[in-house]
Amino acid sequence: MPPIRILLLALLTASAAPAEGRRLTVVGINDTHGALMAAPAPRWLMSKAGPEVGGADWLGGYLSAIRQEAKEKGGAVLVLDGGDDFQGSLISNQFQGRSVTEVYNALGVGAQALGNHEFDFGVEVLKERVAQAKYPLLAANVFFKGTRRRPGWLRPSVLLDVEGIRVGIVGLATVSTPITTNPVNVADLEFVEGGPAAAEEADALRAKGATVVLICAHAGPRPPEQEIQRVAEAVQGKVDAIVSGHHHVAIGPPPLFVGKIPIVQSGAKLQAFSVIDLALDGEGRVLGAEVNEGALPKPGGPQAILHSWNGEPARWRGRPVQPDPRVTAILRKYDDQVRALREKPVGETLVDLWKDREGDLLGSLAVDALRSGAAGGLPARFALQNAGGLRVEEIPKGPITYGQIFDLYPFDNEQFVLSLPAEAVRNALEAVLRAGKGPMRVSGLRYVIDWDRFGAGGNPRKAPDGAIVVKMTDAESGQVLCETKACAAGGCESACAKGPYAVAVTDFLANGGDGLRLPAAAPRKTSGALARDMIVAFVREHRPLGAEAPGHREERRWMQVGSAQRGHAER
Ligand SMILES: [Zn+2]
Repeated sequence: MPPIRILLLALLTASAAPAEGRRLTVVGINDTHGALMAAPAPRWLMSKAGPEVGGADWLGGYLSAIRQEAKEKGGAVLVLDGGDDFQGSLISNQFQGRSVTEVYNALGVGAQALGNHEFDFGVEVLKERVAQAKYPLLAANVFFKGTRRRPGWLRPSVLLDVEGIRVGIVGLATVSTPITTNPVNVADLEFVEGGPAAAEEADALRAKGATVVLICAHAGPRPPEQEIQRVAEAVQGKVDAIVSGHHHVAIGPPPLFVGKIPIVQSGAKLQAFSVIDLALDGEGRVLGAEVNEGALPKPGGPQAILHSWNGEPARWRGRPVQPDPRVTAILRKYDDQVRALREKPVGETLVDLWKDREGDLLGSLAVDALRSGAAGGLPARFALQNAGGLRVEEIPKGPITYGQIFDLYPFDNEQFVLSLPAEAVRNALEAVLRAGKGPMRVSGLRYVIDWDRFGAGGNPRKAPDGAIVVKMTDAESGQVLCETKACAAGGCESACAKGPYAVAVTDFLANGGDGLRLPAAAPRKTSGALARDMIVAFVREHRPLGAEAPGHREERRWMQVGSAQRGHAER
């Protein structure tokens, strides 16, 4: 088209719509959980992607390609993180997350949301990470209890100049934080509803000159809460896009929009990222958004951090991708310090150990270890382990390394043994189900979840004690420990053994994690043994795990009748 016609067209359209300006590309990551190193590709992706995906240095390579493209087209790039970054791997935990922050600094992260697991090493360590980071850690909805005062180390929002574009970023933490980190770490803090807090911050940022406002939120999309959608509804017309986290879901295809606001989330453990391309007008205001255009493996979904694709080197919109050597050097520096420990053999399994599937051998292994008294822990009659505390889905058959057990159980949780009547144990099993979480892993116990019999499935949150777990028995003697006879509006009538019984849990559960309310006055003991060390010792003592592996050839340890208006697993 000759230049004069372009000019004419521009003049004609100028009054109808603002002239199109630059493009702001927002790259979203979330729930890194210390997974800085490349990892085996998921089985469904392996045939096309090859043996490995992910790795912070490969993400760095993608970011270089994205920044190069933006530079050539006069655009700008901003990397936002949805939180939960430090907890979960040897290369992170051994340094209390310092390695992750150093890598994020090198990747040029623009801002990070405050995840629940950011508290896992305590607030003092978190302050060190905040001081180390060249980018802000944000949450607008966290206050000292009963006040509107924020902790000094935490900022609600930030206004950045991104290559000349004035971008406001609001952070949010999930309202479930107090029960998804060890509650003692956040005892003096209050996590209020995110939407109103974000709306207020967004207005303030616009008043200060932001033409684009984004949210990075550690809050997820799953029902029943749909926490992030609720946030998006509260900020319509004020916010342009949201990078979310917490539920470890890969959003899209198709992309998720609430009204005009796109919401991305990219799974977990740095295996993928999301891209929101915002088209801006001449004044830097958002005209429209495209989400995960041309992404692999599925356009419209997060882009997998591929090393190769169909046998060809990885590419980003036609540009070759190579790991970023600066990040590779940082990874090597830290990995050199943990490699020997990571690769240390601790045992062997003759069968694949899965969480949930095929007998839940992995869950049974962990909870049997917790009950066993291995590694100087205290032996107990029963043990309970929350499903969310087990962080890998599979340990394949073969040698088992310390690193694999670490990834399964990264938390430094201590074993506690509580003296409880049967009724309190039953109520603990119900508390997690009522909150929409996966069934508690048990050792020494069997139990029946019945959503139909007393109508608990219709509204699990309102179900009275005894309406969900209708029967609980001692696995060894078969003795009935608790059985529900009848339920009425006011509550259920059940017959439970008095006990008390020695019940092994972790300090996370003993302190009320996952919403558990164990009787505060119940006598408790601890040996100080870490649950993870107990699993390592147990695996060592039972090598090789085989046909006789704990849990193998058994019925599932819980039986489920009917279904509930399902909730979601907290991460
Ligand atoms: Zn989380």
